[in-house]
Amino acid sequence: MKDKRIIAYKNERVKKIAFNFRKLLIEVVMQEWINLHHEKIKNKSQAERIAIENERSNLLGALRNSICLCPGCSQTDRDMVYNAPLKEWYCTLCVQKYRDFYRKKKAILDRGGFVGDFNEGFHESFL
Ligand SMILES: [Zn+2]
Repeated sequence: MKDKRIIAYKNERVKKIAFNFRKLLIEVVMQEWINLHHEKIKNKSQAERIAIENERSNLLGALRNSICLCPGCSQTDRDMVYNAPLKEWYCTLCVQKYRDFYRKKKAILDRGGFVGDFNEGFHESFL
């Protein structure tokens, strides 16, 4: 991983404020996502429903790419690491889990073994 930005708060007070702010942002986004659903099911044309659904999808995409929650475990109160190839933030625990998983599966593959369902590119992006 070339871009190794890490967000880790050392000051407990700042950490608490940041984590509460993440939760608040998630709540605001999810409330808007629900509001758009209610808007969509009103008497709308097909084109309007598609536009609203695209907007809802974009909201979830923005949330997924944000630092507010880890896409791996959905936790909001952890130190975060940026995964530049995926353009997503993951918590330090998930990053370590994906790195360990990659090394373990890669070692089996390198010996000519079978590893089953293994997305090498995804897991390699955490190295
Ligand atoms: Zn995580």
